Amino acid sequence: MKIAVLKELAEGELRVGATPETVKKFVALGASMAVEKGAGTGASIADSDYEDMGATTGSRAEIIKDADILLGVQGPEPASLKGIKKGAWLVASLNPFGERARVDEYAKLDIDALAMEFMPRITRAQSMDILSSQSNLSGYKAVILAAAEYGRAFPMMMTAAGTVSAAKCFVMGVGVAGLQSIATARRLGAQVSATDVRSATKEQIESLGAKPVFVESVEGIEGEGSGGYATEMSEEYQKAQAELVSSHIARQDIVITTALIPGRAAPRLISDAQIATMKAGSVIVDLAAEQGGNVEGAMPGETVQKHGVKIIGAQNMPATMAADSSALFARNLYNFLSAYWDEETKKPVLPDDDEVTLGIRLTKDGQVVNERLLASGD
Ligand code: NAD
Repeated sequence: MKIAVLKELAEGELRVGATPETVKKFVALGASMAVEKGAGTGASIADSDYEDMGATTGSRAEIIKDADILLGVQGPEPASLKGIKKGAWLVASLNPFGERARVDEYAKLDIDALAMEFMPRITRAQSMDILSSQSNLSGYKAVILAAAEYGRAFPMMMTAAGTVSAAKCFVMGVGVAGLQSIATARRLGAQVSATDVRSATKEQIESLGAKPVFVESVEGIEGEGSGGYATEMSEEYQKAQAELVSSHIARQDIVITTALIPGRAAPRLISDAQIATMKAGSVIVDLAAEQGGNVEGAMPGETVQKHGVKIIGAQNMPATMAADSSALFARNLYNFLSAYWDEETKKPVLPDDDEVTLGIRLTKDGQVVNERLLASGD
């Protein structure tokens, strides 16, 4: 069983799908490990660090040859996988909706493409969930970026020269990223409030010492919903939410938006007219900028200024913390493969009817087989 670790070639991608720690663990399971030269550079990992743990290093062609499993962060260009063995597994974040044509190419290569972001939200798969591990870091970094761009301090400070008041921070979307944003903003001393469409988050917001701001006139999503995800809200709800946000947002210094709906464009939560009501010098960070944006005018990878308000459009935030994000991502991949490891044959086996297999497997035997992807209309 040969596992190959790819060097990421996508622009700005500094993460890597395996670390010396996980290489060592795979070797202990009986796998032979081959790492593409320079794969760890962006995450401050040298080739020799991998070699010390028992891996060989080489060119892409060398590591791919005879590989049974390829580990990556983003999906590689199919053309770069020339020479791959039929039936090999590709385990990475494959952006199946955004890179639909690539999925067909993976099928043509006759490899099993396994999209880690399609991991079902079930208890036993928590430790394999790349969306959670990476969102957590993004939520933290969003607040750090906002603090760096904000021309004032976050905590209240009483000094001999007078008092500096605490920043008011509003977090919209309280999933994994939003919860970490709340916690980080609180640690920095801001006064924090937060909102979501899922009523279950109210308690979580309060438990972190922040104030919940919720639409009460129209019912939101009760309980955890399907797999803990949000769905698109009714027009009536959206209208009530816009009114609530309008009155609240004008008093905020920092707004962090994280709202996502799986398989859909991100919901628009803040309009240009609402931004115009905010104080000059306020900062908005849109963590959903790459998925269409929660904030009107947000551009992925750019900071734009509107009505005196800075709008930071997030782009691949985890890559800005590549050492930590790679460590967590690599553990997610290890936790997944080791959970299905067959001791006798020393390789992982995915049962066809397993909930995880059905969730993440995009291609098999030359066909696109993923129901969620096929149901999306392509
Ligand atoms: P997400 O990234 O899909 O969305 C972020 C947040 O935006 C969610 O809380 C969502 O409700 C909210 N949102 C969507 N539309 C909105 C709108 N119009 N206005 C305001 N907020 C809106 O969510 P996530 O971070 O992946 O987490 C969703 C839930 O799944 C959480 O409860 C989390 O704990 C749970 N979860 C479970 C597992 C597991 O059991 N394996 C793994 C990860 C997450």
